[in-house]
This record gives sequence, structure tokens and C-alpha cells, in this order.
Amino acid sequence: MLRKSLVAASRSAKLEQVVSTSPLSRAVVNRFVAGTSARDAVQKVQALRDQGLYSTVDRLGEDTLDREQAQSTVDAYIEVLRAIAEAGLTDWAEVSVKLSAVGQALPDGGEKIALDNVRSICAVAQEVGTTVTFDMEDHTTIDSTLRILHGVREQYSWAGGVLQAQLYRTEDDVKAHAVAGSRIRLCKGAYAEGPDVAFIERLDIDKAYVRSMRALLESDGYPMLATHDPRLIQIGQALALRAGRAKDTFEFQMLLGVRPEEQLRLAGLGYKVRVYVPYGDQWYPYMMRRMAEKPANLALFLRSLVSRS
Ligand SMILES: Cc1cc2nc3c(=O)[nH]c(=O)nc-3n(C[C@H](O)[C@H](O)[C@H](O)COP(=O)(O)OP(=O)(O)OC[C@H]3O[C@@H](n4cnc5c(N)ncnc54)[C@H](O)[C@@H]3O)c2cc1C
Repeated sequence: MLRKSLVAASRSAKLEQVVSTSPLSRAVVNRFVAGTSARDAVQKVQALRDQGLYSTVDRLGEDTLDREQAQSTVDAYIEVLRAIAEAGLTDWAEVSVKLSAVGQALPDGGEKIALDNVRSICAVAQEVGTTVTFDMEDHTTIDSTLRILHGVREQYSWAGGVLQAQLYRTEDDVKAHAVAGSRIRLCKGAYAEGPDVAFIERLDIDKAYVRSMRALLESDGYPMLATHDPRLIQIGQALALRAGRAKDTFEFQMLLGVRPEEQLRLAGLGYKVRVYVPYGDQWYPYMMRRMAEKPANLALFLRSLVSRS
């Protein structure tokens, strides 16, 4: 119930205005967000690299219905890719892109606009020697997102996609998409979906995650296991071993600020660990989804609002 309300709140413009203009403590946002500029993002990538952790950098922003805004997101990605390259960090950092931020939802030909826009981002990623992963949003966008991913992979076979274990369709999607070299991030899913399309009970989602994780690890694809769940991480390690996977043929992924000690522990064991590093002004929907995942974050956030007001 709380999760559903918070995910709904992440889409409320009114609430966004109230929360964003409140004198809240930057410290809370700073735990999850690298800062506002490309330079802030690169500094975070550098700090993570110094600890042996990889990054995927996300320019915050989603759901644009404005073509110029979509173009400015593309420009921001190009800027951050060049900044990553200038800092000599392309072996350590890639970028993650939300297609709704680059025009997918535009009323006239949004899918084509998003495809063209991500091709521009991918061209620069290729030039500097890194990769791009397309985040997955709510279930209504999946077919379009997978079509765009296919379109991009014709030219950039390294482009990565995301599948969400909570959806009934995902096990079939894993089978269809886990082809040789295909980079696929598996997550539980951050969007509040209904029982018509998704598992609702935690246990059912976790079991579905394990089935998809097993299929991915046994495939020829490159699995990117995005979870902080200790049990799933442990099962992932065991399944990888059973599938005969070397530690450099898959990776674990976690969000900036979430279980940082676990990120270091896994890296210390020789696993590749990549941290999702969001930056930019538009942190509100991202933060609300993080609250939905962990009510303790909400308490922290509310306390900061109260203590500063
Ligand atoms: C790298 C990465 C990329 C992602 N990309 C997408 C995407 O493209 N599309 C999408 O729908 N979702 C995405 N997600 C979010 C994902 O779907 C889940 O919502 C999120 O990861 C929480 O699920 P979990 O597997 O960690 O399990 P949970 O059951 O939510 O959490 C397990 C444990 O991890 C810890 N934990 C989890 N989340 C938090 C938090 N926010 N704060 C503090 N502790 C926490 C807690 O200890 C919790 O008990 C991504 C997640 C990661 C890590």
C-alpha cells in the first residue's frame, strides 16, 4: 500500500513542487544522488573507481513531452560521456538512459525520435569506448523499449537492456533476448504494477527473479544482476558457479548509497560490481521510488524535512 502510494507520488507534479521547494536536507538526497553537474558525476565515478567499483551514470529526468527537453537530455549525456573520457574513466563507467527522457512518449513519432536520440548517444559512447544501457520503465513501455533496443543493437551490439522480474512476461523475454553477448540487467522492478501483469507478493517476485537469473546465467548473454537483496545475491553467486561462469562474465549492480558495504564486500571477493550513479536536478521521482523500496529511507527523508523547517 505504502509502496503504491509512494510510486504514485513519484508522478505527482503538485507533490514534487512541495517537496522540491521544501528546505530539505541535501544530505539525504546526496546519499543517493551524485550531484547536479556532469563534473559531480565524474567525481563520484572516480571515487568509486578508487574503491574498485564500476559505474553506470544516469542523468536524472524522465517522462518528457517536450522535444527540446529531450534534446537537452541527449546533450547532457554527450557532455557526461566526454567528461568520463577526459578523466580517463571509460573502462570504469558507462551510462544508463531512460527512453522517456529522450522523447519516447512524445505524441507524434516518439519511438522514432527516441531511437534517433539514443543512436546519437551511442555514437559518442562508441567513439569514447564505453557502453549504454536502456533503463526499463513501466510495463506499458516495454514493447517499444525492446524495439528501440533491437534497432540500436543493429549498429551497436553492446547496447544493454533491462528486464523486470516482477512481470509475468519476463521469463519469456529473458529466453528471447539472452543471446550471445547480449547485455541484460535483471532487476525486480521499481514500478507499481497490477496483478494483471505482475507478481504482487514479495516471495513470488523473488522466486521469479531466481528463475530469470538462472536462465540468464546459463545463457550466452552477459547478465547484470541488479539487486541489493542478500538472499538473491547469494543465490546468484551459487548459480554462477554452477553454470561455470568466470567472475568477469557477469556483474552485480547496486544503487549509489544502497548497501555500500556489500558493494565493497563483493568487489573484494573478485566480483565485478557496478554502481548506478544518478546526477542532475530532477531527483524527485528517483528519490520517491527509493522511498518506496525502503520505508526507512522515507523516515530519514521526513526527519530531514522537519529538522530544517
Ligand atoms: C543498478 C540498478 C538498476 C536498476 N534499473 C532499474 C530499471 O531500469 N527499471 C526498474 O524498474 N528498476 C530498476 N532498478 C530498481 C529495482 O527494480 C528495484 O526497485 C530495487 O533494486 C530494489 O529491489 P532489490 O532487488 O534491491 O530488492 P528489495 O527487496 O527491494 O530490497 C532488498 C534489500 O536491499 C536493501 N534495499 C533495497 N532498496 C533499498 C533502498 N532504496 N534503500 C536502502 N536499502 C535498500 C534493503 O536492505 C532491502 O531489504 C534498478 C536497480 C539497480 C540496483
